[in-house]
Amino acid sequence: MIEEARARFETLKAGGMLPSPQGVALAVLELTQKHDANIQTLTHLVQTDPAMSGRILRYANAVHGGSLRHIASLPHAIVFLGLFRVRQIALGFSLIDHYRSGACTGFDYLGYWTASLATGITAQLVSAQAQCPPDESFTCGLLSGIGRLGLATAFPNEYSGMLQENLSGLALREAEIGSFGLDHASLSAELLLDWGLPEIFYQAVRYHELPTEAPFAAGSRAQTLTAALHFAAKVGSLLNLDAAQRWERVPSLYHAAAQIGLEDHQVPPLVESVVGQWQDWGRELHLPTRDFSDIKLLLGMPPDPSQDENLSVLVVLPMRVALITRDAAHLRALAETLDAMGLLVQLASDRDSALRLLQESRPDVMMVELLDSGDAAVKTLRELRAGEGGRQSYCIAMIPPEAEVGVARLMLAGASDYLLLNYSEAALLARLNSAQRVVALQGAVRTERESVIRSSGEWARSNRRLLQEALTDPLTKLHNRRYGLDRFAQEWSFSAHSDTPLSCLMLDIDHFKQVNDQHGHEIGDLVLSQVARVIERSCRKDDVVFRYGGEEFCVVGPNTALADAIQLGERIVREVRADRFGEDEKRFPVTLSVGVATRIEADRELEALLTRADKALYAAKSGGRDRVVAARGEAG
Ligand code: GH3
Ligand code: MG
Ligand code: MG
Repeated sequence: MIEEARARFETLKAGGMLPSPQGVALAVLELTQKHDANIQTLTHLVQTDPAMSGRILRYANAVHGGSLRHIASLPHAIVFLGLFRVRQIALGFSLIDHYRSGACTGFDYLGYWTASLATGITAQLVSAQAQCPPDESFTCGLLSGIGRLGLATAFPNEYSGMLQENLSGLALREAEIGSFGLDHASLSAELLLDWGLPEIFYQAVRYHELPTEAPFAAGSRAQTLTAALHFAAKVGSLLNLDAAQRWERVPSLYHAAAQIGLEDHQVPPLVESVVGQWQDWGRELHLPTRDFSDIKLLLGMPPDPSQDENLSVLVVLPMRVALITRDAAHLRALAETLDAMGLLVQLASDRDSALRLLQESRPDVMMVELLDSGDAAVKTLRELRAGEGGRQSYCIAMIPPEAEVGVARLMLAGASDYLLLNYSEAALLARLNSAQRVVALQGAVRTERESVIRSSGEWARSNRRLLQEALTDPLTKLHNRRYGLDRFAQEWSFSAHSDTPLSCLMLDIDHFKQVNDQHGHEIGDLVLSQVARVIERSCRKDDVVFRYGGEEFCVVGPNTALADAIQLGERIVREVRADRFGEDEKRFPVTLSVGVATRIEADRELEALLTRADKALYAAKSGGRDRVVAARGEAG
């Protein structure tokens, strides 16, 4: 299936039918693929596009986080970000600029980018969960749905027709494959790979919409990245839905959050900071982001068991209606009608009693009589909506016919619907019907959401623990081999794309069999942990240290040239040699042998580098142990 999708992709690409970066971004992409690419030429190139320069500067400061000094110049920003990241950022921004509109009439281009932007920002913020560098996550999130834009670009008419059908999930995939020969998720993945993003993103993007279909091992980096992207895309689409639809999606958002170990209380502040950055970037990129004054309310409604009784009342009819009017006689006929329909009606005829009624009996619906749609009416509505009780109920504004022209103001002030005071019975029934539908839906959603929220914290904690366990070696508490090789693969890909050095150290304890033989297996175990601690503290923050197996360890040094890697090896060997291991009085010396290798052009795969490090380790052993040997042909 992957082969078919790839073949189809190649055909579309060859036909020039797919979105592609243009202008400076294209030049940046081409430049960074050359071997002699350097920061200076890149800076000159980017400077020819002031808008792009500004955005890269802004982006650098955003990921910089303000912990250090502000980055004030483009060259500094580019040095800080590095060739590889500048390339990704230029790619993303260029696509946004050039595909803001198009021939596919059913495709909401701006809405697409607005949601993608939020997805990118979320992916960046949760990147720690996916053990992924934040800058890469941003582009990965931003472009995770690019296949949709791809289909809209390549098949504007057919895709427009398909969008009308409102398909999703597997049904959409089937339809896309049927009509276009590949689905949007595969197309997204192929495009990213084609633009030189790391392989692991290809995997995650391909599966993030239907993560249960992904073939990844639990706890693997591919799986956590997929889950993180799944959550990010949910936030992205949530922010672009209407209020009513948004509400329904909240439980599944918490669900997706729990899968990456985010607890319920962590979700609202996270989404809030996404919204803040989203609006900032939206202004910069001229994308229409929404205003979300209610995001806390939407996501953060705390589970309150005391409301459970009310909740069941909410879903079970009859509805409870509060009639709010200055003159009860005015609405007496209405009250009698509602009563006859079996609804529970309560009346309030001044501001204070209305607020008290809302607060105490939390009606499903409030019907508020207003004299007009002027400032006073707006103020009244806002007041009623502001308090507890008033906020949740469905609000029908009852207005004289001449006030209908100003009804938009009332809706903005919090009315859910309106009814003219000279209403017909049919109009009244229609209004109550929609109210009933919304009330029932809200009740169901609220119950579901609260039960999800209540259980998701526990679930998130156990997910996090499992994830931790799956990636940790139980004896030494170092990362295990699976995690280590996964990270190694990621660093490998980064290094190959950005042409930065990458070193690998293989470490093996000398004559460890004798330790077991002389002191027993238990002491052997203890020594393994103690040696692991010494290795760990000798390494730098960015080094990836893991237990390779038995009494062997591996250190991966990103951005580390051979000479530095040898120095690191020497430091570890020295520290181990200087220490004593085992229990209290019976401590004894231990030594290590280390093989070092650095990535060279001829290393096609990560395994080639590992093998050379392993051979060097063997040479260190046969050369007398307790020493560092570098792979041949790479004198540092
Ligand atoms: P060399 O210097 O050539 O590396 O000699 P060595 O004795 O260290 O190498 P060898 O590969 O012959 O033996 C490795 C020993 O490490 C054998 C095995 O029992 C022991 N070992 C491997 N894993 C563990 C472990 O988890 N705990 C303990 N106590 N011993 C282990
Ligand atoms: Mg060994
Ligand atoms: Mg050994």
